[in-house]
Amino acid sequence: MEASPFADIPLNDVGLTPEKVKDEKEGGPAFYCHLCDAQVVYNIARAFLPGLATACIDNTTGDVFTAPASVAAEIRKEMVEYLMQRSETFVAESVVLDDGLEVEASDHPYDIIAYLINEYASTKRNLFSRVSGWLQSDKREDYIDDFAQEMEINGFWSIDKREEIAQTLLKNVDLKNEFHCDMKFYSADELAQHVPTCKYRPRTCQNVGCHARFSASQVEKHDSDCPFKTIPCEQKCSASLMRREMDRHCITVCPMKLVNCPFYSVGCKSALPQCKIEEHSSSDLHIHLLYILQGIHKEASVQVLRKRVEQLQQKYSTKLANIRDVRSLTYKVKDLDAKLGPLKVGATNKVDEAAMTIAKVEFLEANATNKPIETEAIDFEINTIKDTIEAAKS
Ligand SMILES: [Zn+2]
Ligand SMILES: [Zn+2]
Ligand SMILES: [Zn+2]
Ligand SMILES: [Zn+2]
Repeated sequence: MEASPFADIPLNDVGLTPEKVKDEKEGGPAFYCHLCDAQVVYNIARAFLPGLATACIDNTTGDVFTAPASVAAEIRKEMVEYLMQRSETFVAESVVLDDGLEVEASDHPYDIIAYLINEYASTKRNLFSRVSGWLQSDKREDYIDDFAQEMEINGFWSIDKREEIAQTLLKNVDLKNEFHCDMKFYSADELAQHVPTCKYRPRTCQNVGCHARFSASQVEKHDSDCPFKTIPCEQKCSASLMRREMDRHCITVCPMKLVNCPFYSVGCKSALPQCKIEEHSSSDLHIHLLYILQGIHKEASVQVLRKRVEQLQQKYSTKLANIRDVRSLTYKVKDLDAKLGPLKVGATNKVDEAAMTIAKVEFLEANATNKPIETEAIDFEINTIKDTIEAAKS
């Protein structure tokens, strides 16, 4: 059996140990499952550092004596307290956006916490940042990014600690109970039995290169967009590759990438997988010859040209067989055509034009039955030609 690409995370590793909580009612279920949607917890935790960096930078800008790093610890403490308090009493409000529009606030826990982080950071702006145009400057964005990254790298606030806080905040604002488990049990045993089946138990992706964490209920969803999952080529060549490499593969090296026939410029409008070009060039040589001869003898009737194609193929098949580009084949055909002697050219008229198109239809139809892969392009061309015939008749 194939190994599952997803693994459970040991619960005590991520601070998600279910805990016993005192219930108000004596004798009520006192054991709560405290598992949360791991992805949302992670996303909230990730929003803390940029928020903290913003508060620190805006609080110290223009102050030559205070560096953002020197206030970071204090502001972090204050920010956590602020978020805890605000999230406990949070009720969805409508939010007035910068452009004056009032919108119904999102009730997604991530959006709510991000809004609160923003709200906190804006209270830390010092006088200088409020009056100097600092808030609109590009430099500010760079400073914030750099400082957040610096705190991330030097482990100022570990992701585990941030996730613990994020989890509490999530529970406070997830009023619809969509992103955390609220099941209660009468005994530790019952709770212990529930946890391994809880849809919020955290899992990790085992695909090489992927570090995603999510709840068990999100496994299928993650599997269907994990960029590191190996899947068969979308264009159905024999390759299997990571989802993230698919687009590039399909427009570059994939043998099934559609390309124009190398004889496009002389009239062959077939589009085929690049791996079939060789085959097409040899099996459809007669079509390419017909197009080239048509270019040389513009006045010739189709019957005459078709005869000429037959003659060329009978007499010079080996000379023509391996030529794969327009220039060389045109050159060769000119040469061999001259060797065959002058061509008796009938004057072109509508009947001849129609005959030419009929000939193409026959070639193409013969083609279509042999190679299903090209059928679509050929059908299209046949229809175009049939239209031309109708037009020529009238
Ligand atoms: Zn649960
Ligand atoms: Zn993954
Ligand atoms: Zn492919
Ligand atoms: Zn072609």
